[in-house]
Parts: sequence; structure tokens; C-alpha cells
Amino acid sequence: MPDSQPHPPSGTPASPDGQPDPGTLLLCGARLMDGRTVDVRLGRGRIEAVGTVGSLTAGPAPAPGTRVDLGGYLLLPAPVEPHAHADTALSADTDGPVSYAPEDVQRRATEAALLQLGHGATASRAHVRVGDVQGLGSLAAVLRARRSLRGLAEVTTVAMPRLLTGAAGADGLAMLRDALKMGASVVGGCPDLDPDPTGYVEAVLEVASEHGCPVDLHTDAADPARLARLAAMAGGLRPGVTLGPCAALARLPAESAARTADQLAAAGVTVVCLPQGGCGATDRRDTPPVRLLRAAGVRVAAGSGTLRDVSNPVGRGDPLEAAYLLASRHGLRPEEAYDAVSASARAALGLPEVRVEAGFPADLLAVRGGRLADALSLSYSRIVIHRGRVVARTSAVREYCDSAAAEGLGLPRQGRSMSP
Ligand SMILES: [Zn+2]
Repeated sequence: MPDSQPHPPSGTPASPDGQPDPGTLLLCGARLMDGRTVDVRLGRGRIEAVGTVGSLTAGPAPAPGTRVDLGGYLLLPAPVEPHAHADTALSADTDGPVSYAPEDVQRRATEAALLQLGHGATASRAHVRVGDVQGLGSLAAVLRARRSLRGLAEVTTVAMPRLLTGAAGADGLAMLRDALKMGASVVGGCPDLDPDPTGYVEAVLEVASEHGCPVDLHTDAADPARLARLAAMAGGLRPGVTLGPCAALARLPAESAARTADQLAAAGVTVVCLPQGGCGATDRRDTPPVRLLRAAGVRVAAGSGTLRDVSNPVGRGDPLEAAYLLASRHGLRPEEAYDAVSASARAALGLPEVRVEAGFPADLLAVRGGRLADALSLSYSRIVIHRGRVVARTSAVREYCDSAAAEGLGLPRQGRSMSP
């Protein structure tokens, strides 16, 4: 197991984005998905070099804590969480009604982001309700959590107004515009819950155009005609429209599902599915037909939805679990399944691409194992790197009692331990 922890020296120069520069970090002996074993040098938040083992150095006089031994680990682009619910996260852990007191929301949102970060998600998109009882209080609390997490994880917020049409819609619209001025960076919500879903989508697209921000809407996608209208309306919008969790696509007849997939592809709409259970009622927990959508050319990302709130009290927020489910239940190859929580999810969030190659952002996840299939099957031990710095580390040790079977596998005599 790695035993070195980076301790960035104080007083180092700031990187271009204003964060302290963590200095140079050398990751040694990591396996890559293509089977190579390499050293990787990180500096100024980026990957500086990838070379054969022993070919790189951390600098002319390596300081202590500038090397991390990744022997036995697979090094991957870090996953991200494209669909979280920051205002209700972890609310199932206490009895009684959910508290929307700003200090409670901020504490839960921070803890949820740290949980997700421990799993490897160095960025997340968090849906937050605006209007109703909370007003803008929950959003303000999540934005404070976001600031406190700077340097550890990036959190972007989606403002979710309830109604945008009719008499109540004027208030919702004003609240949405205020939310964007306050710092929400994405327009969201649930058009299916508005008495006029098409009017709701029109309003969302108009506000998003005004502010030049992306759209991320909740829909069950139960009505193919309504979804086709939404896709047609969304088609021209840049920087893009995301829909999720689209569970009802799984229940459409094959022909209708194929036509819908083509319409979503033509509109350039991203679908974020939630294989771990989603964020709605229990009868809307399906995963849309991901292979059909991918074959039609739809970008499909996978998120985890709610994290231990009333709709999923056991939610884990683990992107590797979402990828595992796409592989085990939906027949995606491990590389395709991991793409849904990494490259495609990053693209959905408008984040730059990460590859384990020189010049790319140093947002990486090291997991125990030699191949991606191993990592998706079982991977407790993880080292998470954000902007060139180790930001989270989980080390698991499993011990078996003394037995002939353990001895037969050649496990170490002391403690019969292994690191999953
Ligand atoms: Zn949701």
C-alpha cells in the first residue's frame, strides 16, 4: 500500500486559477487501462509527463511527500457526479421532516460532496430547489458549501424552480433569474410537474439563452410526443441541454424508443441515467435503454441521484457503482460503462477532457486492481487526485483467519490479508 502523503509546501505560488500550487507530484508504477505500467508527473494542476517506470523525476531535489507509490493500482481519469441533490442529501439520517435551515443544508451538502469525492468524483452537478418554502436559502447554503470545498472538489449548482407558467409562474421566473444572479450556473426543474410543460420548457430555454447557461431538466420521459417537442425546442440551445433520468424510456415499445433516441441524438441532448435508483418515486426507478441510446448517437452519462434522502435512504453516491450497474445489468463493456461516469459525464458538465497523457488536467482516480473490470467489480481502496493534489484516500485491508485455503492462494502468513 502507498505510504506517502503529499504535503504541499506553504508559500508556493498560486496556479493560474488562484488555487495554491501543490507543486510537483510523481505517481510511481501505476497501471493504465492500456496495460502499460508507468510513472506520471503532475505539476501546476496538470499532467506534465507520462513515462516508463523510473524515467521521470519529481525535480532536481525531490522533497519528501512528492512521490506516491501506485504499485497494484489502476490509474484512471477521475469520474464526476453529473446528477446530485445537494439540498436533500443525507437528510434520511435524521428523524422527522427534512430541515432546510441553511446551516443544515450547507453541512449536508458539504458532507455529501466529500463522500462523493472519497469515491473519486472530483466534480459534481447539484440540483437545488428554489422558490416555495426555501426561497433562495438552500441555494445560498449550497453555494457556501461550494466555496468551502474549493481546491478539493468542484460543485456546480442547478436551480430548480417548481412552476414557471400561470399566475404562480411569474414568481418562479423571478426566483430563477435571482438564482442565476446569485451563482447558480445551470437552469433546471421538472417541466412535467408544471400544468403547462411546454410553456415551462420555453421559459427555461429563454432564461438559459439570456444567461448563456446550460439546461438540465428532470423528466421521466413517459410521454414520447412531449419528449420529442422538448428535444426539438432544445436543439438550438448552446451550451447544451441535459435530460434525466428518463426512466420511462425503458418501458416504451422498441420502435417508439428507437424513434425517441434518434430525436434526442438529432437535438444533441445528453441523457443522464441514474442506474442506482434515481431521485423519484419507486415506480420510476428504471434505467433507460442505454445501449439503444448510445447506438443512436446520444451522449449517455450516469449519475447517482439522491444520496440518503427519503427517496433513496441507502444511496451511495459512488460513480463506480453506477458504472458497475451499467456493465452488469445493461451489458455495456467496462470501458463503455466507465465512460458514462467519466468522459461523457465530464462533457455533460462542460468540463475539459481528462486523459492520462501529458497536458491534460490532473484529475485522476487510482483504484486497486489491474484492469478496469477488476476495479468495477470490487474496489474499496482508492486515491483521488484533484488539480494535481491527493485530496482523498481510502485504504481497505481484508483479513482472513488462518486456513489452508488462504495458504493455498499464497496470501501473506501474517494476518492472511489482502487489499481489495
Ligand atoms: Zn434528480
